[in-house]
Amino acid sequence: MTNRQSPAIVLQVTAHAEADKIVTLFCRDIGKITTIAKGAKRSKKRFVNKLEPFTSLVITCRPPKKGSLFFLNEAELVNAHLFLRSHYAGYVTAAFISELVRRFSGEQDGDPTVFTLLSWALKALEQPKNHAVVAVFFLLRLLDACGYQPRLTGCSLCGCSIDQEPDFSLYPGNGTLLCHRCRRHSRGSSLHLTRQTLKFLSSGQRMHLSRLTSLHMSSNNAYQALRVLCSYSRHILQQDIHSWKQLEPLINGKQKRSVRPNCSRDLSRR
Ligand SMILES: [Zn+2]
Repeated sequence: MTNRQSPAIVLQVTAHAEADKIVTLFCRDIGKITTIAKGAKRSKKRFVNKLEPFTSLVITCRPPKKGSLFFLNEAELVNAHLFLRSHYAGYVTAAFISELVRRFSGEQDGDPTVFTLLSWALKALEQPKNHAVVAVFFLLRLLDACGYQPRLTGCSLCGCSIDQEPDFSLYPGNGTLLCHRCRRHSRGSSLHLTRQTLKFLSSGQRMHLSRLTSLHMSSNNAYQALRVLCSYSRHILQQDIHSWKQLEPLINGKQKRSVRPNCSRDLSRR
């Protein structure tokens, strides 16, 4: 089997046996792959400081003869994103983003759009206080990239635009919106969205990635948007999104957080 090389981002790392690590990566050219890094726990040179969550690398790996476990030969460090290790809100948001990519991506389903989106989000999280807006627009654009773009411009039944009514509901079963009048005639559980939140989301679907962090959402709008997008995502995945439990208290600002990752400093502590 020929070795393959690709830019990659570390999504998850677990210890394996005495000296190895199992590393899940999202590669620009290969997609999500699971690799084994032999001797990585003892490595003084080859992998030191490289196989950490959210690190950007250029990797060389050997595809498996059978099964799905790649052999990780080498990793060259591009960006360690060290800021995220010392900033609680950034770390938790990066963990949320990383889990979303793991859950939405199939093995070896290469997608440069998802790679670009992931790279943008990790870089944007290096600016303090960006975590809510990055979480909202990352999930929104990931849904678009995976073919689950919710239709957010107006009511799918009467056709009124989001400028014409104050309140709408998103139906997770098909990703469509209904205005509050049409909702009265509809069955099934739905998720409430105000016109203001919808305007942010609708802009976020169209804008270039580099401009997304210039949109200043209130914490109420960001929380409402994320709750709805997470519920919609859970419906699509038919799985829970575990890291939402850590991120949610940081976004709504009303609950005290209960779980912290192992950070040396916590600059966002209130
Ligand atoms: Zn309607």
